[in-house]
Amino acid sequence: MTLSTRDAAAPARAPALQSQKNASAATVSVASLVSAACWFGIVCGFAEGAGLLLFQRINWAQWARVMHVSKEILWISPVVDLGFFLLIGLAVASVARIFPRIPAIRVLAFLLTFLTAYDWLMLSGHFYRSAALLFALGVSVAVGRWLAKHEIGAAKTWRASAPWLLASLGLLICAIQGGKWIYQEWTIADLPAAKPGAPNVLVIVVDTLRADHVSSYGYSRQTSPNIDRLVGDGVLFENAIAPSSWSLPSHASLVTGRAVHEHGMGNVEPMPWLGWGNSSLNGLPTLGGALQKTGYRTGAFSANRIYFTSNVGLGRGFIHFEDYFDSVGDCFVRTEFGREFARLYMNRSQKSKFTRAFKYLGLGSWLDKDSEGSGDYGGTFGIRKRADEVNRETLRWVARDRQHPFFAMLNYLDVHFAYGGPSGYPKPVWDHGTTVDEYDAGIRYTDDYIGRLLHGLNDLGRLKNTIVIVTSDHGESLGDHGLSFHGAALYRELVHVPLIISYPGHIPEGVRVVQPVENEAIASTVLDLIGAKQDPFAGPSLDTLWKNPVTQQWPDAISELPQTNTIVAADRAMQGKIPIATDGWMKSVVSPQWQLIVHEKYSPQIYDWKNDPGELNNLANTPEGQAAIAVLLKESSH
Ligand SMILES: [Zn+2]
Repeated sequence: MTLSTRDAAAPARAPALQSQKNASAATVSVASLVSAACWFGIVCGFAEGAGLLLFQRINWAQWARVMHVSKEILWISPVVDLGFFLLIGLAVASVARIFPRIPAIRVLAFLLTFLTAYDWLMLSGHFYRSAALLFALGVSVAVGRWLAKHEIGAAKTWRASAPWLLASLGLLICAIQGGKWIYQEWTIADLPAAKPGAPNVLVIVVDTLRADHVSSYGYSRQTSPNIDRLVGDGVLFENAIAPSSWSLPSHASLVTGRAVHEHGMGNVEPMPWLGWGNSSLNGLPTLGGALQKTGYRTGAFSANRIYFTSNVGLGRGFIHFEDYFDSVGDCFVRTEFGREFARLYMNRSQKSKFTRAFKYLGLGSWLDKDSEGSGDYGGTFGIRKRADEVNRETLRWVARDRQHPFFAMLNYLDVHFAYGGPSGYPKPVWDHGTTVDEYDAGIRYTDDYIGRLLHGLNDLGRLKNTIVIVTSDHGESLGDHGLSFHGAALYRELVHVPLIISYPGHIPEGVRVVQPVENEAIASTVLDLIGAKQDPFAGPSLDTLWKNPVTQQWPDAISELPQTNTIVAADRAMQGKIPIATDGWMKSVVSPQWQLIVHEKYSPQIYDWKNDPGELNNLANTPEGQAAIAVLLKESSH
């Protein structure tokens, strides 16, 4: 047996020519191996990309555990598979050079058939790994047998079709990336002229940030010097209340300016086959859409790749949306082989040789695990998108255009579990490793990057005329009421979030508003601040509260939590001990003194949060509490 298919068919040659021929045989063989690797890589990747998109939609009920992809996966999968298979091709070629009797083409085809079959079988997310391995082995043995008789023909086919496959991959990349670019350019070219001097709008959502851990909200630790500095230029709402206690419903409220029961996105909904179009969020107007109509370029930059993404239905109104595929590592772990890599390697200890080697190669960020994916259940982890990347994306996008005012909505996920900020980032002096220490360290890190973002905008000359709003989508339990995380209940630590609006020279400086407000009112408030003629949101606009601090009739702040299963096990364990959302919907009403929490199945709780901010004493059985419940139920029923 010789190396080359061509050589195998050639007649015997004179010994004098043999060494020269051997050299050319090796070259021919490498070319055949490379074309086979190309062929398999691209074919495997095309089907893989389509399959990942398809099964994400079919498996939507498992949304929190799925690694998500958007249309870019259609070219990223073939590129990754092509690179991986080429490496295998080159390895086989090297071995065959040392051991020329190895049937290199057949060995390679066997390996690549095995990998392709395994890849395709695993796409559904419903196959046992061992069964897929066995089945793939069977397929590759059958293909190997067939190849023993058809090697020459197959190699010819691969060589002839590989260039075409490469060309189609190139075209697909141009179509998808170019299509996005053209869509954005055209949409921006179509924007109406904005009012002269219209301010930019920057809404920063620090995911999972409870207000009482922010220094300007009275926290004893210096967690937030940059956020605190914004307070000096504007207004701080001491009692801002989030629309819900987990990311999806709250972000949906922030982009629509509406309550959860109005936009209806209380849980993940199945994605329509042809994309969301205008059907998401009950078709309600969005802040991005309203600002586009007044001449704004709009963009979202999200590190929460489970619940603040275009895929989940929150993209409407944003001309530009950056969620997935922010780095080579992120592109890689969203492909099928990348998922296998993450499953095998991302769970290793800090001391493992693999982890140390990876860090040594400068790829430590690949091991920064995200809660996205099924890693906590033995499957694949996502790679965390840190605040520095969100900043990079935002500043790059802002710098691209000076003609239009911008509206950018950012989500930083660094305060969210796993706490502590990225490894390598200096720990604050107070951090001795407790849960709260680590949670606070994440705030300090995020705050630092908020400062850097504002510096970056200033360097671009785009900060001066910018409304900056900092808020959060919900808080975090950190052990209060027996809970650890969020999304299970509506206690104060879960819904009391920061809300700071800075717009130097246009709103009063250093004002603190005590009145409880809903932070989804940001949508109406922004339209008011930019002087838009129409406000498609429910209101009320918060500027009334700083223009007229003695306004009395302000609606109570409402939060809603539809029944949900998206609750981690640690909090789910509280079912039966306290009312949580696993077995019924919940609603909270916050007035200047009281917080009422009602549950579909259990009796209401009421807390005097002003005097009992930790909400330790449920006063529902006291005459005072009963009276307050009656008043709050009446006030919140219309
Ligand atoms: Zn969140």
